[in-house]
Amino acid sequence: ATPISIMIGVGKAAQYGVLIRNGEALQQAGKLTTIVLDKTGTVTEGRPTVTSVVPTEGWEEDELLHAAASVEAGSEHPLAQAIVEAAKERGMQPEAVEGFAALSGRGVSAEWRGQTVLFGNLRLMGEQGVGLGGLESRFGELAAEAQTPMLLAVAGRAAGIITVADPVKSDSAGAVSRLKREGLKVVMITGDYQAAADAVGRQVGIDQVIAEVLPEHKSDAVAKLQAEGEIVGMVGDGINDAPALARANVGFAIGSGTDVAIESADVTLMRGSLHGVADAIAISQATVRNIK
Ligand code: ADP
Ligand code: MG
Repeated sequence: ATPISIMIGVGKAAQYGVLIRNGEALQQAGKLTTIVLDKTGTVTEGRPTVTSVVPTEGWEEDELLHAAASVEAGSEHPLAQAIVEAAKERGMQPEAVEGFAALSGRGVSAEWRGQTVLFGNLRLMGEQGVGLGGLESRFGELAAEAQTPMLLAVAGRAAGIITVADPVKSDSAGAVSRLKREGLKVVMITGDYQAAADAVGRQVGIDQVIAEVLPEHKSDAVAKLQAEGEIVGMVGDGINDAPALARANVGFAIGSGTDVAIESADVTLMRGSLHGVADAIAISQATVRNIK
């Protein structure tokens, strides 16, 4: 590849809002065989909103939401922002808590009104020995509707479920079908429940869904595909995604992503659209054709 044709390719990509860090990344993009997409913030908007609050016996909706928001106030996770926002819409401000901890891929915990509160997924509750008191099937039903249910437990007992939904970006399905037309396999990876992830996958035409993955295992999933002979492009936006972006043959950070993701990526998609991946691939192929 001549330096001049690479410069032209990089410049052309920039016109599409696709910032390519170096010539190597530009040349690799056209050789990709599999694209791995993070779900939250990549396929979806990454702006979840609360869709239901389901208290158990002895709890009120507002009380449940208030407790969850108080524990989530210390978290930067998009799910936390959704909970705090919903509480504020009902006129409630988060209350001070002690000993806040963010539990990666699981949820959050803190001391609230002198009691230990856990808020998060079934993995968290399982590890902490919290029984669901008959809410298991409700969880499954909600997840199958592409909602993400979270459980609040106070002093080891279930207080209720809060669900959020994160809409799919309007152009995700179009971009996925474009990638598939180019012969690429499209995989989605997420820490969310299998049922919720499958529902999103169906909406956008994903070939394979890898769900319930802990953040630190996302890069292992990329390595596994590589071991199977795939040349992998990984697209993500979060701090969680940085190791997987670095591991991939080409890492794409999607617009409005965190600085960590952008630093670990070879390509930054300024427009926040998955079409940028297909654009990068097309420009790469045109560049390589011109120089051979
Ligand atoms: P993703 O792969 O979508 O970025 P994460 O790995 O960050 O997801 O989280 C996986 C799951 O862990 C979430 O779907 C949620 O059930 C739970 N979780 C993580 N962080 C939080 C939080 N701050 N509050 C509640 N639940 C959380
Ligand atoms: Mg994420």
